[in-house]
Amino acid sequence: MLIVDKEKCIGCGVCEANCPFGAITVIDGCAVVNDLCTLCGSCVEVCEPQALRIEGAEKNNRANLDEWSGIWVFAEFRHGVIAPVSFELLGVGRKLADTRGVPLSAVVFGKGVEASAGELIACGADQVYVVDDPRLAQYREDVFGRVLERLIRDHQPEVVLAGATAIGRSFIPQVANALNAGLTADCTHLDIRREDGMLLQTRPAFGGNIMATIECPHSRPQMATVRPKVMAPLPSDQARQGEVIRVELPDEAFLSRVEVLESVLSKQDKVNIQEADILVSGGRGLESEKGFALLRELAEELGGTVSASRAAVDAGWIPYRHQVGQTGKTVCPKLYIACGISGAIQHAVGMQSAETIVAINRDENAPIFDIATYGLVGDLFEIVPLLTKKIRENRGQ
Ligand SMILES: Cc1cc2nc3c(=O)[nH]c(=O)nc-3n(C[C@H](O)[C@H](O)[C@H](O)COP(=O)(O)OP(=O)(O)OC[C@H]3O[C@@H](n4cnc5c(N)ncnc54)[C@H](O)[C@@H]3O)c2cc1C
Repeated sequence: MLIVDKEKCIGCGVCEANCPFGAITVIDGCAVVNDLCTLCGSCVEVCEPQALRIEGAEKNNRANLDEWSGIWVFAEFRHGVIAPVSFELLGVGRKLADTRGVPLSAVVFGKGVEASAGELIACGADQVYVVDDPRLAQYREDVFGRVLERLIRDHQPEVVLAGATAIGRSFIPQVANALNAGLTADCTHLDIRREDGMLLQTRPAFGGNIMATIECPHSRPQMATVRPKVMAPLPSDQARQGEVIRVELPDEAFLSRVEVLESVLSKQDKVNIQEADILVSGGRGLESEKGFALLRELAEELGGTVSASRAAVDAGWIPYRHQVGQTGKTVCPKLYIACGISGAIQHAVGMQSAETIVAINRDENAPIFDIATYGLVGDLFEIVPLLTKKIRENRGQ
């Protein structure tokens, strides 16, 4: 908890001004802390009279940062293949490792995973830690958490990256908590300071209105998750050489309170806007569910998939799995056609790295035009059918 030393506090208000959570108020010349305090420590750092201290949330490894070295990527193995986000993480991990002059390692768990080590090396890993065991065939949060925690304790990497996938989101926070390490979720950019190894973790904050760069100065490892399609993978180089390290763990590492009876791929999972090369996306400008019929026709002509803004999803015109943006999915297609979407920051963060963006909007001042490669100012109900017709004509249909 955050303790105020009343003898030392001079009621200057610097802590109150620096608290991002409105958790401190100066009352009668002394700082008073309320329930909003998250123990972030911002106030402790700025308190000149040293009247504030945090107790009971010790910052581990404070003195031993130098003992942690190397960049790790958790390579997720799902349905018999490595998840694409793992290669994207190796792409950014390679840059971090080269800046620091340390090895880049991938960690892969599962049954029959050893064969995938070569792919991870071809895409940037110097080493691959393989835990190949039938007891890891099914994802179980407690076992995956324990195995990764154990490997991290044994090898002490300075950085651990994982995909912000359903699996990553569920067990990585548990690992960070067990290690008393910092974790930044959903990073959109990662960099590292060469001299002290500080991972600079950038992500949208305060509803996407600012981009915050977060550091974890006191704890190791520095842990971050990154959504699929945010970072670019390296081209696969089959000539790259690396080391495969097989890890054997004692039986107790695999004990679980969970028994998986069956694993069924839901029908919903088959629509994956993150894998589509072409997305035709609709927003509130479509006016109703029927508007999506126009987009489906265009998408069909282009061999693409339909996606949407949150406004369209919230209106119930299309299911959530189609939503692009901060609280939806991040996509990086070759072509993104935004129809009747204003381009709010929370939408833009999910699609702005698309190769080509075409925006159709009747408001020439809509922010979507700031990020569009091509902009069509006009009524989507005229433009979209025309586009579909033209494409059909060009195909001679
Ligand atoms: C914490 C938080 C998280 C959020 N997460 C997301 C997210 O993940 N994804 C997301 O999309 N949003 C998200 N939002 C919401 C976001 O702020 C916007 O409200 C939303 O993106 C707006 O959707 P829209 O562009 O479809 O609607 P609007 O902003 O209402 O824009 C509709 C556009 O359609 C145009 N238009 C209307 N009729 C026509 C026509 N006939 N022809 C051509 N153009 C037309 C209008 O000019 C307008 O620009 C989030 C918000 C918050 C606070």
